Amino acid sequence: MRVLVVGSGGREHALAWSISASPLVDRLFCAPGNAGMAEEAECVAIGATDIRGLVEFCRKEQIDFVVVGPEAPLVLGLVDALEAEGIPAFGPSAAASAIEASKVFAKDLCVRSQIPTATHRRFRDPAAAKAFIATHGAPIVVKVDGLAGGKGVVVAEDLGAAYRAVDAALVERRFSAAGLEIIVEDCLAGAEASFFALVDGTDALPLASAQDYKRVGDGDRGPNTGGMGAVSPSPSLTPEVEGEVMDRIILPVVAAMRREARPFKGVLYAGLMLTEAGPMLLEFNARFGDPECQALMMRLMSDPLPALIAAHDGVLKSVDVRWHADCAVCVVLAANGYPDEPQRGSEIRGLDAASTDPNVKIFHAGTRRKSGRIIADGGRVLGVTSLGGNPAEARERAYAAVDRIDWPDGFCRRDIGRVGE
Ligand code: AMP
Repeated sequence: MRVLVVGSGGREHALAWSISASPLVDRLFCAPGNAGMAEEAECVAIGATDIRGLVEFCRKEQIDFVVVGPEAPLVLGLVDALEAEGIPAFGPSAAASAIEASKVFAKDLCVRSQIPTATHRRFRDPAAAKAFIATHGAPIVVKVDGLAGGKGVVVAEDLGAAYRAVDAALVERRFSAAGLEIIVEDCLAGAEASFFALVDGTDALPLASAQDYKRVGDGDRGPNTGGMGAVSPSPSLTPEVEGEVMDRIILPVVAAMRREARPFKGVLYAGLMLTEAGPMLLEFNARFGDPECQALMMRLMSDPLPALIAAHDGVLKSVDVRWHADCAVCVVLAANGYPDEPQRGSEIRGLDAASTDPNVKIFHAGTRRKSGRIIADGGRVLGVTSLGGNPAEARERAYAAVDRIDWPDGFCRRDIGRVGE
């Protein structure tokens, strides 16, 4: 098979690495890829949101299967455009991606399907939103409807912070079209976890759980980021709770999407709060998380390609996916200045020395190769990912590799995987 992976982050490197080991693959391409992905596949200079360019490439190169990593091309209809040309692609249609692209759609769907989630109200008028917040009281959560790059949610500890969040979206219009409607919802308490399932339109196959680390600094301090690390499985999601998540959240939403004529195919990612009343949904995403995917691919024993193809073909029932019982930890190395203004252009040395442990794989994100050297070219730059018999062992291996990387212009959190200790 000739396979194309779309995207250029650590998530897509992990997918390409895992798919490259499949005996089904003759040639593997990445668009646009990065310096690390070039080790596993042939990189082609087509942007992940260049829908026309990607379709054209697939036609010309007779690509048999496309795996889409990030949400932006999904929402823009890449899978629809490929399928219209007869090119099989893994990922949801634009209509089904609304489950991530519109929080209003996702929340209303939860209510219609009795999926446990925080009680919410929708607002377009700032005065009405504030009046509701005043009667509700704090803490309270304000979310913008559309994709906002992880910046669209404010967990307000007091009324002032909630009013400011309302003004930012509805008055100052800081999120442009994505923020013209907001959701105001109850603040939930508990441990957070992420859960991933493969979905074929009708059936869902549970994959694995993870926990990510969103804040830039140790001890969950500082601004939010795309994700500074991950550990899989989630330390708080027991197999029993996992069953509850499948029965009360994943399977009902798959049925609801089908009923509403937006059948979902691809990876369904449920962001969860594990409350005293059971698991509750915070948000759905329509793709793997980054960096959770790096940790997941490290634990995956099976060839991913037959499972992805089965999800596409609507025959997930016929596949079984096996996982290492071990724990995986992914530590993200980011460029100094991230998330505000990451510095680009510095050289990263020592990657070969850091890659000698067979239990460690270094996934690239924002890197490029220049005259044989690896250069930092983004905010999140590397994802040092390891496998261990327990979180402590996995963490030790990951940080031993991190410490062999010679990159004074980058940094990482030092507490990834240190949950529940
Ligand atoms: P979301 O993009 O909806 O997952 O929200 C981003 C983050 O905001 C989550 O990971 C939680 O930490 C927090 N959050 C979102 N909704 C709630 C809620 N209803 N109660 C408490 N925290 C929340």
